Amino acid sequence: MQFMANFKCNHTAHSVQEYFTTLRTLGFSQEFLREHELVFFPSFLSLQAAKDFAPFGEIGVQNAYPAFNGAFTGEIGAQALESMRVRTILIGHSERRSLLGESQECVAEKFAFFARLGFFIVYCVGEPLSVRQQGEKAVQNYLQAQFAGIDLEATRVSVAYEPIWAIGTGRSASVQEIAQTHAFLRTLTQSPLLYGGSVNAGNAREILSTPNVNGVLVGSASLDAKSFHTITQSVLL
Ligand code: PEP
Repeated sequence: MQFMANFKCNHTAHSVQEYFTTLRTLGFSQEFLREHELVFFPSFLSLQAAKDFAPFGEIGVQNAYPAFNGAFTGEIGAQALESMRVRTILIGHSERRSLLGESQECVAEKFAFFARLGFFIVYCVGEPLSVRQQGEKAVQNYLQAQFAGIDLEATRVSVAYEPIWAIGTGRSASVQEIAQTHAFLRTLTQSPLLYGGSVNAGNAREILSTPNVNGVLVGSASLDAKSFHTITQSVLL
């Protein structure tokens, strides 16, 4: 299973250091680390602290600009990431699509650029509530459009299904909805499929037992080290 923590615009370099100190105290068995994968997406300013203090797992970025370097004020390019040995990136998160105005073309350009560099890409897709209310077929059509210009074979990819209405709302998709939508996504790719959207210590086990779910992408409930640790350990129950 893949367990991914998206800190979004939360935590500081100092609190990230404390986070990993707590996680180290809670610990992971060698067997767990052999069988499962941990990925953390801190903010840019706590990236170095995460690299320095995470004793396990991969550190990735929540976004980057599709250029090696150059005149792109306020952006972070691949050269800076590679200098820190960061080779994992989240692309297509709904907050970037809706709040930051990233179009499918922009998302696809980022995907192609970082795929060319061989980054591990966690590619997010998900529908708004108005689409979910129209039923599964409408959801599938919506998600299909979010793969426009995306070559899932171009690099190592995990696809995260994150219904927008479930993100940060405390209302996860039902197991039936996850099962149905993941079965559809499985027809598009053999890549690992993650579910994200209000995953917490109480529902992780059931979600992880759903067919075609190969892991979870966790926002709010990953901010606390103990809570994220409990989520990871639910796979052992
Ligand atoms: C997310 O934003 O990727 C996410 C899944 O958030 P939350 O767990 O808070 O719903």
